[in-house]
Amino acid sequence: MESSRPEFDSQMYNEAVGQFNRVASLMGLDDNIADRLRVPQKSTVVSFPFRHDNYTEVETIFGYRVQHLTTMGPTKGGIRYDMDVDLGEVAALAMWMTWKCAIVGVPFGGAKGGVRINPMNLSRAELQRVTRRFTMEIINVIGPDTDIPAPDLGTNEQVMAWLMDTYSQHVGHAVPAVVTGKPPALGGSVARREATGRGLMFLLPQASQAIDLDPSGVSVAIHGFGNVGRYAAVAAQEMGTKVVAVSDISGAIYDPAGIDVNAAGKWVDEHRFLEGFPDADLIDGDNVFGLDVDVLVPAAIQNVIRADNAPDVKAKLIIEGANNPMTLEADDMLRERGVMIVPDILANAGGVTVSYFEWVQDVQKYFWSENETVGRLREIMTRAFDDVHSIAVSERVDMRTAALIKGIRRVADAKLVRGIFP
Ligand code: NAD
Repeated sequence: MESSRPEFDSQMYNEAVGQFNRVASLMGLDDNIADRLRVPQKSTVVSFPFRHDNYTEVETIFGYRVQHLTTMGPTKGGIRYDMDVDLGEVAALAMWMTWKCAIVGVPFGGAKGGVRINPMNLSRAELQRVTRRFTMEIINVIGPDTDIPAPDLGTNEQVMAWLMDTYSQHVGHAVPAVVTGKPPALGGSVARREATGRGLMFLLPQASQAIDLDPSGVSVAIHGFGNVGRYAAVAAQEMGTKVVAVSDISGAIYDPAGIDVNAAGKWVDEHRFLEGFPDADLIDGDNVFGLDVDVLVPAAIQNVIRADNAPDVKAKLIIEGANNPMTLEADDMLRERGVMIVPDILANAGGVTVSYFEWVQDVQKYFWSENETVGRLREIMTRAFDDVHSIAVSERVDMRTAALIKGIRRVADAKLVRGIFP
C-alpha cells in the first residue's frame, strides 16, 4: 500500500505515515481504515498579500490549515509561524494531533495550521496584520464546532486574541470558543500557558520509576525556552528537580549546580533571548543534547536528535516536548541503548488537554479555578501514561509504539461504528 501521497510529500509527513504503517501492520489494522487514516480529510492552502511596515513592500505569503479527522468531534490543533512550514509538515502534525487527542481521550480530531513566515523579523503591527488576514483566509473552515486553533511554534496568546477578534468581528458577536490558548481576559484558561510544560513534568516521576531511576535526584536539560520549554523548566524547579541547562535560538545557558529558571524567564521577558544571561555559562544550543544529565527534554523544533548526535546523548530518559524532535533513525538507536523515550503524542498532550478544558468552559460559559484545572490535567496525564505503559509492557513494545496503538485503536473503533456515508 502507498506510504505517501504526492500532495503531502515531505520528510515529516513520510515519517508520520511511516510510523503509522509500522504500527497499523503490528495491530493488524483493517486495510481500508488504514488507507483512510493516512491522508487528512480536508486541506486548505492559501496565499495572500502581506504589506510590511515600510508600506512599499508587499510579499505573497503562504498559509495552511489541515484537518486530519472529523469523525469524533471538531478538529483541534495549533497554528505555527515558521519558515519551514509547508503542506506536508502541517499534514503530519495534524495526523499526530489525532493520535494525541485519542490518547488523552479528548473528543477532537487532529488539525494543524501554519504560515510560512519568520515571526522573529516582524513588528507587532506586522504580526497582527498577518494574523488577521490569515484568519480571514481560513474563516470558512474554522469555528467553535468545526475546527479550533491554538498556539504553537512562533505564535502566542496575543496571536490567538487577534484570531478570536477577527472571527468574532466577522460573525458579529464574541466567539471565545473559536480558539484556545487565548488570554484569560477573553475566556482563556487560567492554566493554559503552563499546561504543556507542566504536563511533561507530571510524567517525570512515573517515567523515572519505570526505569528504576530515583526521580528525587535527577538533573534535567531542556532544549527550547518558549511556551513548552520555559514552563517545563518552571514545573521541574517547583518539583525540586535540578534544571542544569535551557536553550533558545540564541544559544544555551548551562550551570551544573542548577539554573534559576525564574530569573532566566525574567531575562527573556526583558531581553527577548537567553543570550547575555549573567548567572550561567553560555554554550552552543546544540550542545544541550550531549550534556551529562539524567533527563533530556527537547522542546523547541523538529528533528534535532538525529543519527549524527544520538550517540552523544547521555540521558537515560527523554521526554519529548516538541513535536517530532527526533528522527526515526535516532529513535531506533536510542531505544537499542535502553533509553526510555516518552513520545511527543503522550508527553506534550497537556497542551491539548487544557485547551479542551478551555473550550468546554467557553462553550458552557462557566469557568473553573486554577487548582481544579491543574488537578484534572494531572489526573488525565498520569492515567494516559499508565495506560500507554501497560500496553508497552503487555505487547512488549516501546512507549511510542504503545502510544500509537492506543490512539489508532480508539480512532479506528470510532470510524468502524460510524460507517461510510452514503
Ligand atoms: P515557542 O515559539 O513558544 O518556543 C520555541 C522555542 O524554540 C524558543 O525558545 C525558540 O528560541 C526556540 N527555537 C526556535 N527555533 C529554533 C532553532 N532553529 N534552533 C533552536 N531553538 C529554536 O514554541 P512552543 O509553543 O514552545 O513550541 C515548541 C514545540 O512544542 C513545537 O514543536 C510545538 O509544535 C510543540 N508543542 C507546543 C505546544 C504548545 O502548547 N505551545 C503543545 C504541544 C506541542
